[in-house]
Amino acid sequence: VNPLGVHLRAMGLGAGYVAVEAADVTESHRLARVRRDFVANVSHELKTPIGALQLLAEALLDATEPAGQGQPDLSEDLVAARRFAERIQHESTRLGRLVQELLELTRLQGAEPQPAPEPVAVDWVVAEVLDRTRTNASARRIDVVVDVDRGLTVYGSDSQLATAVANLVENAVNYSGEDTTVRITARAEDEHVTIAVADQGIGIAPTDVDRIFERFYRADQARSRATGGTGLGLAIVKHIAGNHGGRVEVSSTLGGGSTFTLRLPTRPPEDLLATLPSAGI
Ligand code: ADP
Repeated sequence: VNPLGVHLRAMGLGAGYVAVEAADVTESHRLARVRRDFVANVSHELKTPIGALQLLAEALLDATEPAGQGQPDLSEDLVAARRFAERIQHESTRLGRLVQELLELTRLQGAEPQPAPEPVAVDWVVAEVLDRTRTNASARRIDVVVDVDRGLTVYGSDSQLATAVANLVENAVNYSGEDTTVRITARAEDEHVTIAVADQGIGIAPTDVDRIFERFYRADQARSRATGGTGLGLAIVKHIAGNHGGRVEVSSTLGGGSTFTLRLPTRPPEDLLATLPSAGI
């Protein structure tokens, strides 16, 4: 039950204007669901043709591969064909990522039931993230340093939490110069665990900082970098934090690096629910 619905019921549905407001809430929920389902269906349908484009581009690249030393050079036409095939591969990979992230976002927004919360070891999450981000980090000559307290546990979905932290680390790497350091820190704080990802990268202007968690929002400095970004990564992180009863914060200086911090409760969600004033309504 949404908080507004609970509130209206508490006020008594007898009054006409209250009933109208309640109907509006129901209607806007229905519209949100229709929109979410539509995005999920379209994204799903796009996956197959995008996969086919990727395979075709790969086949073209294989077929036009230079034969090697001592063999005749490729004709000009074939060199051009290879260049186009590389572009098709690059763009279709980017499109594939966009579709995958859109699907992920609609899932997080409730298009599918959320998995039951389980205890998740923060150590495991960080190890998984290092695995996923290692190639990109070393290609950009960025040192990823880990400083994680032992034995930290949060409750939720291990795969969602790994996705959230991986998105933060990918960004930290993508928006930093070569030979810099990205630091992942995890600490216990009151009844929370904080997982912070700090970089020495390009930073974020104060005018952008409030908007970067919006879907598709990218700061100007980011647009000009060839990161292959979709503008959905932080929206995904924000949803995952919210689904875990936590939040994500950022502090950044333009040109001076950024720190993104996930704050997650250490108590199981049913425990947290019991402490909320609306529990039992
Ligand atoms: P993208 O796919 O563009 O990286 P995100 O949603 O992950 O999308 O991030 C949104 C925007 O926030 C980025 O385009 C960039 O402008 C900014 N941003 C995110 N992380 C960082 C970072 N570590 N340093 C600088 N800018 C960042």
